[in-house]
Amino acid sequence: MNSNSVQVWKFGGASIATPELVGNVSNIVGKQLKTKAVIVASAKGKTTNALEKLVKAYMEEREEAYQILEEIKKEHFDYASALCGANHRVLNELNDLFVEIEWILEDPVIDPYDYIYDQIVSIGELASTKVLSQYLQLEGYNATWMDIRDVILTDNTHREAKVDWESTLKRVDKIQSKLTTFDVIVTQGYIASSSENFTTTLGREGSDYTAAILSYCLDAHSMHIWKDVPGILTGDPRLFKEVMKIDRLSYKEAVEMTYYGAKVIHEKTIKPIQNKNIPLYVRPFHTPDKEGTLISSEEPMGYPPVIVVNADQVLLHISTNDFSFVGEHHLGDLFALFAKHRIRVNMMRNTAISFTVCTNNRPSRIQAFEEALGKQYTLQKDSDLKLFTVRHYTEEVLQSLTKGKLVLFQERLKNTVHVVVKELVEYELRS
Ligand code: ADP
Ligand code: ASP
Ligand code: MG
Repeated sequence: MNSNSVQVWKFGGASIATPELVGNVSNIVGKQLKTKAVIVASAKGKTTNALEKLVKAYMEEREEAYQILEEIKKEHFDYASALCGANHRVLNELNDLFVEIEWILEDPVIDPYDYIYDQIVSIGELASTKVLSQYLQLEGYNATWMDIRDVILTDNTHREAKVDWESTLKRVDKIQSKLTTFDVIVTQGYIASSSENFTTTLGREGSDYTAAILSYCLDAHSMHIWKDVPGILTGDPRLFKEVMKIDRLSYKEAVEMTYYGAKVIHEKTIKPIQNKNIPLYVRPFHTPDKEGTLISSEEPMGYPPVIVVNADQVLLHISTNDFSFVGEHHLGDLFALFAKHRIRVNMMRNTAISFTVCTNNRPSRIQAFEEALGKQYTLQKDSDLKLFTVRHYTEEVLQSLTKGKLVLFQERLKNTVHVVVKELVEYELRS
C-alpha cells in the first residue's frame, strides 16, 4: 500500500444493510483499495429512521420506545453474530452502546428534543462501524475503529450542527498518527461533537459531508462514495424510467444539482473538496469494477438535461398590511427573519405589494417565522408542491415534466429552469 496518500471512502446505509453486503464491502476493499484509507460509514440500512421513531416515542412518553429499541437491538445482534460469530466481543460493545439509550429512556423527559435526538440517533453509526471494523479485521485487514467525535467538532445546533473547521483541523493529527500503524480506519459519518463534548449530528444523510470534511482536512488523494446506482444519473431512477449515467461532472454542476435537492449526495459535500481540488468518484457497490461518475474541476463539453425533484415545497406569499409597497427595508427585515428561522430560499419573486418565496416544508420553522412576522405582514401558504430544477433543459423535457400539473411559479435562466408545480388532480379536488 502507498503510505503517502490516503483515500476517503464512504459507504452509506444501503451498502452495509445486510451481512452479505458487508461481505461485498470487504471484497471491494480487497480489490479496489490501493492506498491507505479512512472508511466513513452510515448506520446500517434504515436504522436512523427507526431511531428517529424511538426518539419521538420517548419524547411523547410512549412505552413503544422500549419495543422499538428491542427490535433495533435484535437486528444488530443478528447482524453482528452472522458476521463475527455469536461469541465475538463486538456483541458486548454493541450492548454497551444500546445501554446508553436505555439510560436515557429511564429518565423523565427534560432535555430539548433536538439534543436528545442526537444522543440517541448517533448510536446507529457507532454500532455499524464497530461491526464493520471488526469484520474487516477478521477478514485479515490491518483495520481499526475510530470515534470521529474526537476529531470533528461543531457548534451545538443539534440535528444540524455547524462544523468548527479550525478546531477540527487541529485534531486531524489523531487520524494521521493512526494511519502510520493501520491501513484502514473505520469511522462514523453524520456524527460529531460539540465543544462541551455532547454528540451532535450534521443533518440527515450527512455521512457524505463527513467524508468531504475528512478529505479536506487530510488532503486526501481522492474521495469515493459507494452507492446503489451506477453513478450520478440524469434523474432519480426511483422517479424516472429513462435515466442515463453522467460520466463526468464539474464541481459547479454537482453543487447546483445537490443544492436544489438531488438526493444522491448531501448538499454540503462538494464545497470542501472543491476548495482543495480533490476528485470525487461516485461508484456502484453492486458492480465495483465499473466506472461511476467522476466529479472534478474539469468542465465536460456538454451535459444532457438533468432533472432534480425537490418534493414537499411550500410557497410563502408575504404581503404588507399597511398598503405600502414591499420596499428595500421590508426585504431587509424579511431576509433577517429567513436567516434567523433557517428558512431556505429556493426561489423568490417580488411584486409591488407581495413577496413570494419557495422553501422546503419545515412546519416548525415556518410557524416560528410566521409568528415573528407580526402584524405588519400577512402570510399565505400554498403547500404540497414540488420544485423541479432542470439543468440544460429542452422544451420537450419541460413539457413532459409539467404535463397534467399546475405551474405556480417558473423561472428560466440560461442553463436552468426552476418550476414549482402542484398535481392538478389534487388541486382541483381541494379548491
Ligand atoms: P446512501 O446509501 O449513500 O445513503 P442514498 O440512498 O442516500 O445512498 O442515495 C442513493 C439514491 O439516490 C439512489 O438509490 C437513487 O434512488 C437516489 N438518487 C436521486 N437522484 C439521483 C441521481 N441524480 N443520480 C443517482 N441517484 C439518485
Ligand atoms: N444515517 C444517517 C441518515 O440516515 C446519515 C447518513 O446516512 O448519511 O440520515
Ligand atoms: Mg443516505
